[in-house]
Amino acid sequence: MEVARTRAELREAADRLRASGSSVGLVPTMGALHRGHLSLVEKAVANGDAALVSIFVNPLQFGDAGDLAAYPRDEEADLAACEKAGVAAVFAPSVAEMYPKGAPDTVVRPGPLADELEGAARPGHFTGVATVVTKLFSLAGRCRAYFGEKDYQQLVIVRRLVADLDLAVSIVGCPLVREPDGLAMSSRNRRLEGADRESARGLFRALTAGKQLIMAGERSARAVESAMSEVLSHDTPRPDYSSVRDPERLARLEVVDRPVRLLVAAGVGPVRLIDNLAVCPP
Ligand code: AMP
Repeated sequence: MEVARTRAELREAADRLRASGSSVGLVPTMGALHRGHLSLVEKAVANGDAALVSIFVNPLQFGDAGDLAAYPRDEEADLAACEKAGVAAVFAPSVAEMYPKGAPDTVVRPGPLADELEGAARPGHFTGVATVVTKLFSLAGRCRAYFGEKDYQQLVIVRRLVADLDLAVSIVGCPLVREPDGLAMSSRNRRLEGADRESARGLFRALTAGKQLIMAGERSARAVESAMSEVLSHDTPRPDYSSVRDPERLARLEVVDRPVRLLVAAGVGPVRLIDNLAVCPP
């Protein structure tokens, strides 16, 4: 497995893979890899792609310097996990390598969806995501790129980015991987201990309550949101949004008369957690 540290090395690695007849499967990550990340790699390998994993904690998408500093990092374990998973190449650049001129003057600003939900709580977050993802696509060249439904709003925004800018990338969405008790796997879970770990289950409980209500016949999106919000307020210390959205564009809905995505977010202990669930009304 090759480890590319510079942008030039990444371009060369991707070109070489294509020249040898492989299709490239890019898996962008911020490291501290877990089974959720590795499910993306497995999907790329299953599709016959040479998996190219990027590991970069992108400062541009963090509004809070404390959150950036505390973000878990474990490159040694990440490289071992990639090797074991059959990854062809890892791109693990420094911040100075990715942004040699400091914070870029030119950024990619997604549309209005970037100001809602996670974007409302984290202003500028999706501009940081869209900018780094566009750089990675530019460096990797023609490829499939794998994104998890764990970050559902990010997936919707990245799909739109690729369509709007005609990028030579085909986006593959991958299912959310959970812990046995329902908690969505996340690198940030490493920072949860004791009572916080228990509270963190509240996000999936809230989604489950919303789903049960819809399956029992509730069709008012507001009623479903209230029910999720009640569970989130009861179970988590800093509840944020509980929202019922259409799965394609994440538009708000009044009536649950088609498949929907339920989305929740809450602060628990030192971290902010997000989760979501697809529901198909009977
Ligand atoms: P991150 O390192 O958190 O930026 O995540 C990198 C990629 O892995 C993103 O596309 C995430 O959506 C995806 N991912 C993270 N956690 C999970 C999970 N539990 N299940 C599926 N995909 C995930």
